[in-house]
Amino acid sequence: MPRVPFNKPYMTGKELSYITQAHAQGVLAGDGPFTKKCHEWLEFRTECSRALLTHSCTAALEMAALLLDIQPGDEIIMPSFTFVSTANAFVLRGGIPVFVDVRDDTLNIDEKLIEAAITPKTRAVCVVHYAGVACEMDEIQAICQRYELALIEDAAQGVMSTYKDRALGTIGDYGALSFHETKNIISGEGGALLINDPVDVQKAEIIREKGTDRSRFFRGEVDKYTWQEPGSSFLPGELIAAFLWAQLEEADDINERRLLSWRIYDRLLEQMEQAGKLRRPIIPVECDHNAHLYFAVLPEGIERKPILERLHEQEVYCLFHYVPLHDSPAGEKYGRVHGNLAVTRSLSERLIRLPLWVGIPPDHQEFVVDCLEKAIDQQL
Ligand SMILES: *Cc1c(COP(=O)(O)O)cnc(C)c1O
Repeated sequence: MPRVPFNKPYMTGKELSYITQAHAQGVLAGDGPFTKKCHEWLEFRTECSRALLTHSCTAALEMAALLLDIQPGDEIIMPSFTFVSTANAFVLRGGIPVFVDVRDDTLNIDEKLIEAAITPKTRAVCVVHYAGVACEMDEIQAICQRYELALIEDAAQGVMSTYKDRALGTIGDYGALSFHETKNIISGEGGALLINDPVDVQKAEIIREKGTDRSRFFRGEVDKYTWQEPGSSFLPGELIAAFLWAQLEEADDINERRLLSWRIYDRLLEQMEQAGKLRRPIIPVECDHNAHLYFAVLPEGIERKPILERLHEQEVYCLFHYVPLHDSPAGEKYGRVHGNLAVTRSLSERLIRLPLWVGIPPDHQEFVVDCLEKAIDQQL
């Protein structure tokens, strides 16, 4: 019986040689040659105005909050079914996350509920593309335009995904990507902010470089650099960028291989879905996804905990996902709920993520599905 971990970070094989190269060149601080390559790749592939590497997606979201100049009491509409960073970035500036429910099919923010959550204090909507599957961006963008709200995309899971052929992270004002070890394209810790309006580029560069115009200085546009605005240090060093470059070079291959494994699960689980034992992911036609994760939703009324325990006993490491933020201690303290979040509550208790990584052997996947079916059968 194979031991099936939830994730195995994939390495292309070039990471160390690029790191050695950066080391040999003696360029270790940020914004060196490898960072430049990564920026160019991201800008070319996503068609954003400017891509800036950050040390995490969390940092990119914090930059977005600084770019928007979020003030205490400003409200930001977002799903509760997300990672803490989506909310934290704004709470750090005194903003108030306003949690709305998600759609039953994609687990993305329910665009139909956004308008009713808007108040005179609302400044922005921050969407999260769960599992690398896009939110209903046309409708969300229209609402943001009508009410003059900023639109931020937490595209941490959405590298290489598209919505109507547009890269996730390039549809709103700002997009935040993650290269954390658990994501598709990795550098250990890492991320990027995508800036879509050229007008915002200079301010973003200043915020990222400790509030100085150092980026302009390096381009020879000013003869010294000085403190311009409040900012921080959001850029990664060159060793991280060198690692990331090895991954970006192989991004298409990584994406293809993940999709292949994703589709194997989808085929293997079809019969269980027909038998009413679970529900498979639903991908809207306008979304091309990146196979960031494969999940199944259990039927209502069935207990998830014994199923996960049974799987772990067999060394099959399936996982649940987010504890909804509105139910967490900080969420209750700093956030506000709009509506009853019934879908969030129900789905978050019934979702199971299956092991998926580049190169997972198909017979491991069969074993996972077999164990899952038996564990579910025991609870039915
Ligand atoms: C992973 C993740 C983050 C955080 O990414 P880091 O790079 O670890 O900061 C934020 N939001 C979502 C939705 C994520 O999945």
